[in-house]
Amino acid sequence: MLQMIGVVWLGVVIGSFLNVCIDRIPVGQSIIFPRSHCMKCGHTLGVLELIPVVSYLGLRGRCKHCHSHIPLRSIWIEIITGLCFGGVYYLYGFTIKALMVSVLLACLIILAVVDWQYMLLPTAVIYTGLGGGIILYFLQAVMTNQWIGLWQAAIEGIIGYNLFMFLYYVSKWVLKKEALGYGDVRLMGLIGFFVGIEYISLILLIAGILGGIYGVILLIRRGKSESYPLGPFLSIGAGIVIFWGEPIMIWYLRNFY
Ligand SMILES: [Zn+2]
Repeated sequence: MLQMIGVVWLGVVIGSFLNVCIDRIPVGQSIIFPRSHCMKCGHTLGVLELIPVVSYLGLRGRCKHCHSHIPLRSIWIEIITGLCFGGVYYLYGFTIKALMVSVLLACLIILAVVDWQYMLLPTAVIYTGLGGGIILYFLQAVMTNQWIGLWQAAIEGIIGYNLFMFLYYVSKWVLKKEALGYGDVRLMGLIGFFVGIEYISLILLIAGILGGIYGVILLIRRGKSESYPLGPFLSIGAGIVIFWGEPIMIWYLRNFY
């Protein structure tokens, strides 16, 4: 129990770092320097303003210096990351697999929010995640002396990438415009590398349903079809599959086969 609380808190702290990445990566700032500051007035945050969740509540969601609103999103990211880490620990304990899933989830959280806000999937985040994944698979291979996992992951990443590349060209040809972004293709490569090929179709199905529902809502509210980012829906689909992929698969096979 104490370990679980520790892991969730670690997730919350990492979520606070993910917020820094979300704020800074799209505008081209370094994620390390300068120290954490208010995005409006530049006021450097003191120790008491850096405690995740607690500081936000203590400051009632405003900067101590200029009183501008700190986006509510920041507290949500911290809570979601904490819950994700708790879930990963519950499923995988302290293992390399748990680390891999955590790296993927952290990348997906950044990518989903940045894509939602800027319609942009920064390559730096995708390649960092991929690099982290390769190192961890390598470590696992060395420790267990089984190299099959690394090759399998590499092949599955390549398949995910090419599958989406195919969809990218087909949709461009059919719709005569870019329905999928090139970033989505890279994102599917990353997800395929970590999650495995058997789940890719399930992720696409979930993302398609959620994205479709959102598209309809958008159409009703705005009265015309508008383009919207796909990354958040792919990320949510991958997140659902990471935690509930197996039960969903079993349920599906039992009912439809
Ligand atoms: Zn400020």
